[in-house]
Amino acid sequence: MPGEMRGGCEAGGGERCGIVLGETMEGEKRPAPSEGLFADGHLVLWTLCSVLLPVFITFWCSLQRSRRQLHRRDIFRKSKHGWRDTDLFSQPTYCCVCAQHILQGAFCDCCGLCVDEGCLKNADRRFQCKEIMLKNEGRALDAMPHHWIRGNVPLCSYCVVCKQQCGTQPKLCDYRCIWCQKTVHDECMKNSLRNEECDFGEFKNLIIPPSYLTSINQMRKDKKTDYALLASKLGKQWAPLIILANSRSGTNMGEGLLGEFRILLNPVQVFDVTKTPPIKALQLCTLLPCYSARVLVCGGDGTVGWVLDAIDEMKIKGQEEYIPQVAVLPLGTGNDLSNTLGWGTGYAGEIPVAQVLRNVMEADGIKLDRWKVQVTNKGYYHLRKPKEFTMNNYFSVGPDALMALNFHAHREKAPSLFSSRILNKAVYLFYGTKDCLVQECKDLNKKVEGLWREKKKEPGTSL
Ligand SMILES: [Zn+2]
Ligand SMILES: [Zn+2]
Ligand SMILES: [Zn+2]
Ligand SMILES: [Zn+2]
Repeated sequence: MPGEMRGGCEAGGGERCGIVLGETMEGEKRPAPSEGLFADGHLVLWTLCSVLLPVFITFWCSLQRSRRQLHRRDIFRKSKHGWRDTDLFSQPTYCCVCAQHILQGAFCDCCGLCVDEGCLKNADRRFQCKEIMLKNEGRALDAMPHHWIRGNVPLCSYCVVCKQQCGTQPKLCDYRCIWCQKTVHDECMKNSLRNEECDFGEFKNLIIPPSYLTSINQMRKDKKTDYALLASKLGKQWAPLIILANSRSGTNMGEGLLGEFRILLNPVQVFDVTKTPPIKALQLCTLLPCYSARVLVCGGDGTVGWVLDAIDEMKIKGQEEYIPQVAVLPLGTGNDLSNTLGWGTGYAGEIPVAQVLRNVMEADGIKLDRWKVQVTNKGYYHLRKPKEFTMNNYFSVGPDALMALNFHAHREKAPSLFSSRILNKAVYLFYGTKDCLVQECKDLNKKVEGLWREKKKEPGTSL
């Protein structure tokens, strides 16, 4: 290891330097034992190096291994409530423990339980959240009963038994299954319904069932990878959807959307890209049958580009058959790519999240060209390496690119100031006006030379 050896020599040199200084100040020669001391120091240093180096290498290797395994721990984990505090519930709400009417408290953004602050610990003990995986590994793929929770059923929901409206009484009443979203009156709830198998409701083709993950986990332990056979039991229409949402995008909408998707799908398939980067989240696709997964990116063009880059990385890793199709829920300021693909110019909650999922189920796939743009600076006699960028639908050079760059740089510095879409558009307007007046890009056409190189296109896929 030449690096470590060089480090040792430099340290030795430093010690020698210290001794020479001491000699000059004291004005007399040190006795011979100092050389012995120096030799001892060297010996100690080398001994330390030889002991610490293997320890360091072992530690580094285990760190790398744990990083690789991180996504597995993220996926094969125990379920627990994701409590979110609120100062005011948006609809009449009753505590699931003490049944009292509450105005503020916490709600679980996976299963939808509502509770006041005093009953929080009690609720954690008494009620199980949405099971990401089944505890009992012996259970078959098709044998999961409904998971009913009582009270706070959504407004305008109807009983599966008598077809009358549910949740109309001003108290903790009626049940909702946290998987299929079916609702039933207290008086209509029968034992047969309690034991009935849950069919995962309207979005069954998008949900990864807990029993599937249990079976996959078992197969991984047995070193089997024939996931297609397992998935065939879930039907031909099964195309699980992975949500990759940027909680910083939009007017802080990302955070709320994450919760709404966790309620409708399996929480394991919903990721916040600011906490789990897309390349890690997309590893979930490798546990699904080939060519079956879909991804819904909730964010701006930047987030979509980030996910597409992660997909490119999957290709490099040789995971081509696990590459998902990509749909977009536009939360950014510009959303040009989303608009090009037919997903609109911006989402501000106009349609319910359930409708977004229906749109994804109905969408058709199209191919999307991804281009490489190479920028070479001629002024440095080709000494500088050309910079390479990836482009999805267009790239720009000049005032609008400068405006976008200025906006991006300032948002990176203070992300919290850029949480409102209207404010972001105002900032764009400011930079646009400034560039018009300052004219930093004057005579740009004389400086830029374009070179078009025909190359075999590598199309990505998009919904
Ligand atoms: Zn919960
Ligand atoms: Zn309570
Ligand atoms: Zn159910
Ligand atoms: Zn009923």
